[in-house]
Amino acid sequence: MSLANKLAEERRGRLAAERLLELKQVELSAANRKLGRHAAALQGEIVETRAEVETVKTENERVKTELGQANQKVEIAERRLWHSVQTITDGFAFFNSDNQMIAANGAYLTIFDGHELIRPGVNYVTILQVLTEEGIVNTGNLAPDDWRQMMTERWMSPNPEPITVRLWNDQYVKLVDRRGHGGDIVSLGLNITESVRYEKQLKDARAEAEAASRAKSAFLANMSHEIRTPMNGVVGMAELLGDTGLSEEQQLYVDTIKNSGEALLVIINDVLDYSKIEAQKLQLHPEPFDLERSIHEVIMLLQPSARDKGLTLLVDFDLFLPTTYVGDPGRIRQVLTNLMGNAVKFTSDGHVLVRVTGVPDPESGQADVTIVIEDTGIGIPEDKVDHIFGEFNQVENERNRQFDGTGLGLAISQRLVKLMDGDMWVTSEDGVGSCFGFKLPLALSESNLPEHPPVPDGLRRVLVVDDIEANRTILRRQLEQMGLGVVCCSSGMQALKNLDNIDLVLTDHNMPEMDGLELADAIRAADNPVPILLLSSNPSFAANDPGAAHLHAIMQKPVPRADLFARLQSVGPVINSSTAAPSDPAMPRKMRVLAAEDNKTNQLVFGKMVKDADIDLKFANNGIEAVEYFESFAPDLIFMDISMPKMDGKEATVKIRELETKTGSHVPIVALTAHAMDGDDQGILASGIDHYLTKPLRKPEIHGKLREMCPEGALPPLPDAEEEARQAG
Ligand code: ADP
Repeated sequence: MSLANKLAEERRGRLAAERLLELKQVELSAANRKLGRHAAALQGEIVETRAEVETVKTENERVKTELGQANQKVEIAERRLWHSVQTITDGFAFFNSDNQMIAANGAYLTIFDGHELIRPGVNYVTILQVLTEEGIVNTGNLAPDDWRQMMTERWMSPNPEPITVRLWNDQYVKLVDRRGHGGDIVSLGLNITESVRYEKQLKDARAEAEAASRAKSAFLANMSHEIRTPMNGVVGMAELLGDTGLSEEQQLYVDTIKNSGEALLVIINDVLDYSKIEAQKLQLHPEPFDLERSIHEVIMLLQPSARDKGLTLLVDFDLFLPTTYVGDPGRIRQVLTNLMGNAVKFTSDGHVLVRVTGVPDPESGQADVTIVIEDTGIGIPEDKVDHIFGEFNQVENERNRQFDGTGLGLAISQRLVKLMDGDMWVTSEDGVGSCFGFKLPLALSESNLPEHPPVPDGLRRVLVVDDIEANRTILRRQLEQMGLGVVCCSSGMQALKNLDNIDLVLTDHNMPEMDGLELADAIRAADNPVPILLLSSNPSFAANDPGAAHLHAIMQKPVPRADLFARLQSVGPVINSSTAAPSDPAMPRKMRVLAAEDNKTNQLVFGKMVKDADIDLKFANNGIEAVEYFESFAPDLIFMDISMPKMDGKEATVKIRELETKTGSHVPIVALTAHAMDGDDQGILASGIDHYLTKPLRKPEIHGKLREMCPEGALPPLPDAEEEARQAG
């Protein structure tokens, strides 16, 4: 290559290099500019960051200070808490969910007396082991293994029940353990040694006080007994003295001595009984006794005061309940005397009714006998009902203050009943009356009444005369149980109209208008020799009346069933009853039919329709008469007109059905209606009517009913239907 070329080439190369240089310089300055800009931006950022760092630094300082303060506070709180936990005298520890102790206070640890195993980290099971092996705990009846097992099971349960453990030194610790959410357990050991000791002291003191009280009661019991003996002498001698010839003044003194002495004896007897029960010295003496007779004996005692007040004493002894039981008759009579005596004392008019019910259980040989004494007396205000069973408690009001008493009777009776495993209660309405009841479990005695006493020979229909409905009902039930027909009348006048076919008259003595003795006179005046039994609450008074000559016997009222049955047996065959035919035992009686119909024409029609029937027919002119005849005539079938004056047929039926609930009997009643309106039959049947016939009456329908309803033991009223048709044809 030529030099020129080389030079040219070199120049070209230089020029190129110079251009490149220029280019690079441009790039460099651009880059410089960018760098400058970036540096400026960076500078801004650095300033900003520095400011931020400053802020964060300050914040950090503040947080650090606060954290330090908080830590300090926590430490103080923790120290204080722990200090407190340490100072409490009860043990405190907590455990993690693996049953390892996290911490425990001094009180908790002291009982372990610095045992090296008992420190944070120790397992609960190890603690139990140390307790038994070191003899720290008194495991009582349990062997150490069993005790540990029991304690472990308790510890593992979700909610361990508090438990009291006894330590070797007779300290008592009650352990209360609570499981937290994470499974941690806080365990408290409360030292209850003092309260256990106090409880024991209380128990001892109570036993001592009870013993002292019993001793006092025993003393009182002995004292009352001692006082009673000479008091009996005082009263007895006063009585004898009263029978010697005394002046009026002397008689007054003697009576006062006697009455005061008797009053004092009652109080002493009450105190004696009460203190005997309290001293637990009262013994029961069970023996077979007749409950019904005991009730009647109490009635006899109360009869004079009841009679003075004009009160009626009634006994309703459940027909299906035996009367003889094994029990303490003296104590049962005492309860009866108190309750029945109170009933008579707090009742000025009306009645006192003793009702005995119960269901014997032949399997156990026992009966739960309930005796209820119901009176129509002053009653007891509601807020005093519980009060009166307390010792010496009485209802303190104007009405009550006129009666004397100790207020001990009910307290004693209730305790006696409880002693006999029974219950006592009362329901009462102020001003209306009270009902005291008690229930006793009594063993049945072997010698019980026969369930169905034999029907006396020749006795079939008895007329019961008593103005008190409850009495009529009781007698009716008792006599019907013997299989006797019973006709009830509420007055002597009514009785006189119902003597047909009667074999025995059982009449009350004291009745308004015509009393029992006057009735006897009237019966004899009518030349009727039917035997008459008088039931009187004052038999000796009745016996002195000239009318007593007409009586077969006089009996104390109310009559125990056994006595009544025995007396009926003594009536014997009745020869002279007014209508001789029915007294022949072989001859059945006629069917008794009552027709209640107010319209005379209808009565005539009805009479004609049944004229061929061999029945005893009676007409009632209205509903009231129908009810009366139901009681006095004892019909076997009633035809009942529905619309009648005074009392309609439906009302009369309701009354009759009510009366029947007391006897359990059911007389068929056939309604006679003018026309059967839609729905009316429902009303008729709802009143207790069994069938109905629509008027005009038709003979075959009436005869059909007579045949259908004729009871066993009565003469068939008509030949059977075919026979009748043949006769008619
Ligand atoms: P006492 O008859 O000697 O006062 P009780 O303990 O027998 O003592 O009776 C306590 C009280 O209960 C009577 O005083 C009376 O207030 C009331 N009380 C008991 N029975 C009857 C009753 N049948 N009717 C009304 N109050 C009665």
